[in-house]
Order: sequence, then C-alpha cells, then structure tokens
Amino acid sequence: MKKTNQKIPVGILGATGSVGQKFIQLLEDHPYFEVREVAASERSAGKTYADAVHWFLPGKIPEKIRRLKVKPCDPSLKCRLVFSGLDASVAGEVEENLARAGYIVVSNSKNHRFDPYVPLLIPEVNADHLELLNKQEYTAGKIVTNPNCSTIGLVMAIKPLLDNFGLNQLNVVTLQAISGAGFPGVAGLSILENAIPHIAGEEQKLETEPLKILGQVGEKGIDLLHLPISAQCNRIPVIDGHLLSVQVSLKRKAKREEVIASWQQFRGEPQRLKLPSAPGLPIHYFEEADYPQPRLHRNLENGMAVSIGRLRECPLFDYKFSVLTHNTVRGAAGGAILCAELMKAKGILSAIF
Ligand code: NAP
Repeated sequence: MKKTNQKIPVGILGATGSVGQKFIQLLEDHPYFEVREVAASERSAGKTYADAVHWFLPGKIPEKIRRLKVKPCDPSLKCRLVFSGLDASVAGEVEENLARAGYIVVSNSKNHRFDPYVPLLIPEVNADHLELLNKQEYTAGKIVTNPNCSTIGLVMAIKPLLDNFGLNQLNVVTLQAISGAGFPGVAGLSILENAIPHIAGEEQKLETEPLKILGQVGEKGIDLLHLPISAQCNRIPVIDGHLLSVQVSLKRKAKREEVIASWQQFRGEPQRLKLPSAPGLPIHYFEEADYPQPRLHRNLENGMAVSIGRLRECPLFDYKFSVLTHNTVRGAAGGAILCAELMKAKGILSAIF
C-alpha cells in the first residue's frame, strides 16, 4: 500500500474524559486517522481502556479501543499526532513537553490558546492562522488549539456579519449544557430543576478568544480585532448543546434578508477542500419562531453545523438572534478533528507521516 493510502496513527490524551470519549467515537471510521493509543492520568494508566473509562456516550466502546492499554501522557507514545482532551490543570505542561519531543498536538484545552504563535483555529474562519506554525520553536512538534465550545458557535455566527457589515459591539448570554463541565461534572442535586448563573472563567474566554480568532496575522503573532464583547454564562440542565442569545451593532446598516443571506452564503476552506468532517452548510438559518433548540438541532450535519434563528431588530443594538452548537462535537472533538483534517490538506502533517 502506498504511504498516501495509509491512515495516520493518532493518540488521544485525556481519552477517558468527556471530550476524549467523543474523539474515540468520531474517529471510529475516519478516512484519514486511526486511534492507536489512548492516554490519561496515573489513575487510568496501565488498565485496559474498557476498565479505565466510565463510558457514558450512547453506543458501545469501539471494539479495537476497548482492549488498548491506557498509557501516561508522555513522550513514550508512538503516534506523532495527538488530540488532547486533557484537564486544564495538566494540559499546559503535558502538551508543551510533547510538542518539544516532536509531536503535533491538537488541543481542546485553554492553556496554549493565547501563546503568540499558536493558532486558535476554526477552519472555516481563520485557516490562514496556520501560518503561525512556521514561527513555533518546537521544530517538528507543533501545537494547534481549538477555541472554547461557546466561542466556536459565536464566532461562526459573527464572521459573516464582520466581513459583510462590520461590527461595533456585541453582547452574548449563554445557556450551556452540562457535558461542557466534563464527567462527572455538575452534581445532579445542583443542576436538576435549576440554572446556575456562573461558569468559572467562561465569560472571559468569550470576551477575548473571538478577538484572536478574528484578528490578522502580524509580525508578533496575531493582531487582535478591536471589538467590545460582553458575555454572561449560565449552566442549564441540558446534556449536550450550547444555546447563545446574541446582540450585535453593525458598522453598516443591513436589511434582515441581507444578514440571513450572509449566513446562508458563508463557506470556508473545509467546504472548498471537501474535508471529511466539514458540514456542507456551516450555518443553517431557521425561520421557525422557536428554533434553534438543543435537542432538535445539535446533531445537524453530524453535530458540525451551527444553527441560527430568531433574527430580529433590537432596541439597544441593531439585531438580536439565537445560536446553537454541539459543545462536544463542533465545540470540542469534532472541531479539533476538522483542524487536523485541514492541517493534512495543507501538508502540515507530512512532517510526521
Ligand atoms: P473530563 O471529562 O474531566 O476529562 C479530563 C481528562 O483528563 C480525563 O481523561 C482524565 O483522565 C485526564 N486527566 C486528568 N488529570 C490528569 C493528569 N494529571 N494527567 C493526565 N491526564 C489527566 O474533561 P472534558 O470535559 O473532557 O474536558 C477536557 C478538556 O477539554 C478541558 O480542558 C476542557 O476545558 C476542554 N473542553 C471541553 C469541552 C466540553 O464540552 N466538555 C468543550 C471544549 C473544550 P482520568 O480519567 O485518568 O482522570
């Protein structure tokens, strides 16, 4: 078999967690990548994956993965491409050590998102930021990060508005699913029949990450976009799917149908390159008065599409609308896999394969 027909062996860091399990599920029959190694904490290392994990996704653990021995997250891993769903308390050091040892790390954790030469990547929005990798000091190793799960939906929704009309300011209020807090996450007694108006660190991520993602490549990394953003984040008793209520003021007046057309016409590199995980339509706009909803729309296009609805005029800003994304798919594992697919298409993985 020619080298180009072989699947690229990959490892999952934090394979036993909420995001790690989603990686395993989404990579089960992936055309480019094959999970060969699973890694997690000392608590899990040495056990078989089936013994170490508390599998809570619908469906079975893939047969090939059940029997894999969980390894520690260190440079003894044989796969040179690793997807990270590590707890943020350890991700910073572990990912850096692996990059220094020559691994390409695609991470969901917050730790390296603001390193000057680390792309904070949404493939439809800022594929050109991969250019930063040339300035990373890890030589063969690289770190690429996936934004926060709510940031991804927000930025996908505002990118067409920024490009077509310009943005002056933005307000966002989130209703976030419990799977976003990992496993076991929020206690049942805290979240059932309840809503919690605080998610540690989340508002700051929503107010800062879009400025890097929507910024321009400059001499010293990314020149941040200037856009005042105010965010308020709430946890609600939904399993998967983050719903955002967004208000925007635009630089140039736009008719309602022009705003909707900008979303419907939005496409990016993943669609142009026909990447395997790319949704055909990155944004779906719904005219129904009470859409989008987590239970109905989170799995659209295998969980990779963003759903938008309820566009209407706003007495304080120009427009307000609702945005929904699947937090562990587009907002985490699926988004990271799409980043790696883009990197493969751009030849960046050829250094390790
Ligand atoms: P989680 O369910 O708590 O999983 C954490 C993983 O990290 C587990 O596999 C755990 O392994 C591993 N781990 C913990 N301490 C470790 C250590 N000292 N050394 C090595 N591995 C260690 O968390 P999650 O929700 O999957 O989130 C993972 C990361 O993705 C976090 O940084 C989170 O902020 C980010 N993220 C999550 C979402 C989401 O929707 N859940 C979305 C976007 C980004 P053990 O089982 O062995 O303890």
